[in-house]
Amino acid sequence: MKRILVTGGAGFVGANLCERLVEDPNNYVIALDNLFTGRLRNLEKCRKHDNFEFIRADVQEKIDIHVDQIYNAACPASPPAYQASPTNTTKTCVLGVINMLELAKRYDATMMQFSTSEVYGDPEVHPQVENYRGSVNPDGIRSCYDEGKRVSESLCFDYNREFGTKIKVIRIFNTYGRYMDPNDGRVISNFIMQALRGEDLTIYGDGSQTRSFQYVDDLVEGIIRMMNDSRDDFYGPVNLGNPGEFTMLELAEKVLAMTGSKSKLTYCPLPGDDPTRRRASIEVAKKELHGWEPKIALDEGLEKSIEYFRQYIE
Ligand code: UDP
Repeated sequence: MKRILVTGGAGFVGANLCERLVEDPNNYVIALDNLFTGRLRNLEKCRKHDNFEFIRADVQEKIDIHVDQIYNAACPASPPAYQASPTNTTKTCVLGVINMLELAKRYDATMMQFSTSEVYGDPEVHPQVENYRGSVNPDGIRSCYDEGKRVSESLCFDYNREFGTKIKVIRIFNTYGRYMDPNDGRVISNFIMQALRGEDLTIYGDGSQTRSFQYVDDLVEGIIRMMNDSRDDFYGPVNLGNPGEFTMLELAEKVLAMTGSKSKLTYCPLPGDDPTRRRASIEVAKKELHGWEPKIALDEGLEKSIEYFRQYIE
């Protein structure tokens, strides 16, 4: 059996990934999470499988388990969550990746780092291609996450160059869907929950900033293709995202139309260093990951997500 560790396994992306991995009886899946933002309810289905195990632990602490593959997804990812304790965020990124790379080195496992489009900061290059080096403020309120993820990438490549550790690096663009925490403060969960509750939708700034939103199933497919790519010398980084680009006002209008909500829009201050625009360039993923591309357009993904979030409405 292939022994697979998913750190952040009870989180939004981690739980979706675990659910896909346990379907294969040749996989033994270990989800590790400290439940800081992850939630055990996300793993209810996985826990019914014999080839699944949950460990409550923090990636900041060393662990020793024999594994063949590591998906290092552990880190709070929504801006309010990662800014709530910024020093903890940086430590999770840095100590977490070191601990996972050490584990990979010890057992000759492959270590996949879950990096982010945040490494591009507020980008001057649009859409964002992998060889763009980014425009990140090292001292702002997003730096704990952005710089934490940037140094995580550099540690992966240094472990590879210095010790020959097997690495893969993906950069995940805004993702949404099943198992998101309704209170995590990200824009899609906020807008859907606000629309369903009949509350005003909170637009930060003038709502002209853009993002490209990827449904989580498309991301999981890309992650699995990247991990199981048979080339020893293909490390990435690879962008995984949906190139459709929308302003936050367009997103709000869609959510209002699809929920039939009578909610209004209310304008709030734009948080510091909020990127003005973002769109994934996915040419590398298409070429290197056997034609991978997102299959679920925003409207379809929003329908699924609205259904998912309804369970949280009394
Ligand atoms: N945003 C918004 N209203 C909200 C939450 C977020 O207008 O209630 C904006 C936010 O300022 C940002 C975009 O939506 O420009 C995406 O925010 P999110 O927190 O989802 O992700 P990130 O900023 O990390 O891409």
